[in-house]
Amino acid sequence: MPEMPEIQAHAERMTTAIGSAELVKFELLNFAGLKTFNPAADAAVGASLTSVGRRAKSLLIAFDNGHTHVVHLMQGGRLRPDPKRSKKPRNGIARWVFALDGPDGPVEEAWLLTEAGTERKAGVWAVDGDPLEQEPLSNLGPEAIDLSRDEFATLIGAQSRRLHGVLRTQGIVSGLGRMLANEILFRAGISPFANASKLDEDELDRLHAAMLAAVEEATAHERTLDDIGKSADRPSLVHNRAGEPCLGCHGKGKKTTACDDTIRTVEYRKYTVFYCPTHQTNGKTLADNTTSKFLKLLRQLSELLVFLCPSGGTFRPRRPRQQVPQMTGNSSSCFEFVR
Ligand SMILES: [Zn+2]
Repeated sequence: MPEMPEIQAHAERMTTAIGSAELVKFELLNFAGLKTFNPAADAAVGASLTSVGRRAKSLLIAFDNGHTHVVHLMQGGRLRPDPKRSKKPRNGIARWVFALDGPDGPVEEAWLLTEAGTERKAGVWAVDGDPLEQEPLSNLGPEAIDLSRDEFATLIGAQSRRLHGVLRTQGIVSGLGRMLANEILFRAGISPFANASKLDEDELDRLHAAMLAAVEEATAHERTLDDIGKSADRPSLVHNRAGEPCLGCHGKGKKTTACDDTIRTVEYRKYTVFYCPTHQTNGKTLADNTTSKFLKLLRQLSELLVFLCPSGGTFRPRRPRQQVPQMTGNSSSCFEFVR
């Protein structure tokens, strides 16, 4: 999912491209893509853009008649210029047609919202009045990058649960996603499983500095691109680098130099946590939840097999490999039959 840096750079790109253009047409191409029914989305037709901004991971297309279209791209959504303007564009959700000032009079420019994949969650919220006070933005926590060290510490410290999840919870601090959570925690040298309410003052200092530095570097990178990228394509220190050597970090926000360790992972159904044990967990490998549940099940099965097997043999886990997460790739080889 795009995070705050991709959306921020894209809002700036759109501002440069369409500035204060007038909206001449709004076409809803997929009924499910419009998440509100009042006001009508085409109530903004005839109005001019005042800004294309960002709140958390949403784009805010604001018009001078008080209406705003809040666009959330979710996982696979993209909002791009649409010179073809085909009748049934692939994965099309909505199209905005703007009138720009050209040398020989107004020129139309269309932007198309698409969503790849099957999730069908990207969409447009048409709102009248202050968009920050209404759904879907009203329940968001403050922008992570706007928080002072002490404000950040207060919000994070009120959560007695794993820090990686706290950083990604938009209702606490907004704009950070999976990649930034991985990168921030590595820079800060803090375990993704650390309890957010138990960080000491030094850790909070490092976490806040790492958060600002990681967001700043990511946004600077996104601003060099011509189009919205995937956060997976952004340069990283740990994210998507499982099994690769630790790079350390020489930038702002962290102390680290490269160590001899390799980047490890904890796999979840929908995402992966990446970390360096030497830098973040005192060398400890974090339990892989998927594997642990799997091991528990197989332990129960092996007990049953001992009961059923007349020769007294049993299945037992093979000698543990060095990296627990690797065991998830080929789970059948993790066990052997012994007598
Ligand atoms: Zn390291």
